[in-house]
Amino acid sequence: MKKHLIFTILMAVLLFVAGTSSVMAADTGKVITNQCRQNLKMLNEITQKFVERTNEHLPPWANYATVKSSLLNYDDLPQDPVAPTPDCKYNLISNSREDFQWYCNLHGVLDGEKTITILYHEHQIMAKTASRYMNNKRYKDHNSDLLRWTEYAPTPGERFKYHYNMNPLSTILVMCGVLLILIIVYRSL
Ligand SMILES: [Zn+2]
Repeated sequence: MKKHLIFTILMAVLLFVAGTSSVMAADTGKVITNQCRQNLKMLNEITQKFVERTNEHLPPWANYATVKSSLLNYDDLPQDPVAPTPDCKYNLISNSREDFQWYCNLHGVLDGEKTITILYHEHQIMAKTASRYMNNKRYKDHNSDLLRWTEYAPTPGERFKYHYNMNPLSTILVMCGVLLILIIVYRSL
């Protein structure tokens, strides 16, 4: 009976700490998403400069390498943007000289009406899509590929890392709790 009481109190304390702790948490998905959005913002600004400087039309769809070699100035872009994930690949999409923006294969666009949350490996990231480019087949195809990420099933290891990053203390405590239960069950056999 006494053992039962101690165990119940211990579990209550564990659950309380787990529910309230967020010490040392690192939302890696947020960091990645912010880095990529910074890249998209920079590329949008550089392209805006190009539009203001010339009378040229923008391609309806072009990848980063093509745009860089044919449209952009070295002065505007002395360094390639550093992609925060291997899946962050950049493409330019445009309906006109007034309506264009850069697109990331993983994070979508900056200016879009729909926000999607994706569990990308051990990171929870955010993507945006815009329906006004759906008449562009290349965009439509890339958008379908992006949406496929919503079906991604992280491995148990990735799930553990995700929970650990988001809330390390509670993850450790929950693991301790599980271990404690296993020990009690083992000893009562
Ligand atoms: Zn990205």
